[in-house]
Amino acid sequence: MKTLPVTLTDIEQAARRIEGRVLRTPFVLSAALSERCGVPVGLKLEHHQTTGSFKLRGATNAVLSLSAQERARGVVAASTGNHGRALSHAAKAEGSVATICMSRLVPQNKVSEIRRLGANVRIVGRSQDEAQVEVDRLVAEDGLVMLPPFDHPAIVAGQGTLGLEIVEAMPDVATVLVPLSGGGLAAGVAAAVKGRSPRTRVIGLTMERGAAMKASLDAGHPVQVEEVASLADSLGGGIGLANAVTFAMCRALLDDVILLTEAEIAAGMRHAYEEEREVVEGAGAVGIAALLAGRLGRLDGPVAVILSGRNVDMGLHRRVINGETDPFREGAA
Ligand SMILES: *Cc1c(COP(=O)(O)O)cnc(C)c1O
Repeated sequence: MKTLPVTLTDIEQAARRIEGRVLRTPFVLSAALSERCGVPVGLKLEHHQTTGSFKLRGATNAVLSLSAQERARGVVAASTGNHGRALSHAAKAEGSVATICMSRLVPQNKVSEIRRLGANVRIVGRSQDEAQVEVDRLVAEDGLVMLPPFDHPAIVAGQGTLGLEIVEAMPDVATVLVPLSGGGLAAGVAAAVKGRSPRTRVIGLTMERGAAMKASLDAGHPVQVEEVASLADSLGGGIGLANAVTFAMCRALLDDVILLTEAEIAAGMRHAYEEEREVVEGAGAVGIAALLAGRLGRLDGPVAVILSGRNVDMGLHRRVINGETDPFREGAA
């Protein structure tokens, strides 16, 4: 395999660096899915991670990889979602501080959650783009260090530690199902899994609505796609036209990318709740969704599914559990 931006060795180093600072989340067999699929199906319960998603792995590894000087200056990002939460927590835990820039349109509950995790919140402008301009200003004028949500070697290496834990828990795993957006998780997990177990297939899963990595892989270079609201909101956003790390890794390492409808994702969330007793956000349910929808073809060995996060609005979760299949369709209340 030609050398990619992040190697198995980088991921093993990340695992040692973050040990004791992030949870080693449980890996459990799903009786319901194993019976349905005819092969053992294991669930990596990463939605139980501190801050509610795997993003703490990458953020913690990235903050710990900075020099003491850089850490003292502080880190900055424009994410209001799971990366923003993770970075806020990781910076505080390592004696640094995160500044999270967000637009005036971000709901108050998100603002107070990020504040509660110990970050400085800066509210600027009316869009994510304007918030990013403020990030760039803080980097240029105040020397803060920008840590992006996926396209960064230390972030990818941190997310890859999840892959090491999966192969350790299920050494004969034949297929790993990974939620896919910017590709930090998929790139890291695929590098770890294939480094340890070269014949294991790694499959990226994302929503039909706005699948930027899939469109980019098909085009052979990073492309922009229109953003549409989805149950899997954590999978929204582009991969960056100047993508430096995750596009090449996903192209080299992923065996397939499968797109799921809103109804399939809703069914995945309902199965997680009703059968596994787990509250999972849309992005975290795509692996279960693909299995339930029979989208993987014939399975020839044990399957591992990453449940990547649980930060869903509980009102929305309740609506999905009660049977709504597409709360974000055009004109829906
Ligand atoms: C960020 C995120 C993803 C996608 O991760 P990428 O590294 O952007 O591909 C999947 N699930 C959840 C819950 C996330 O927060």
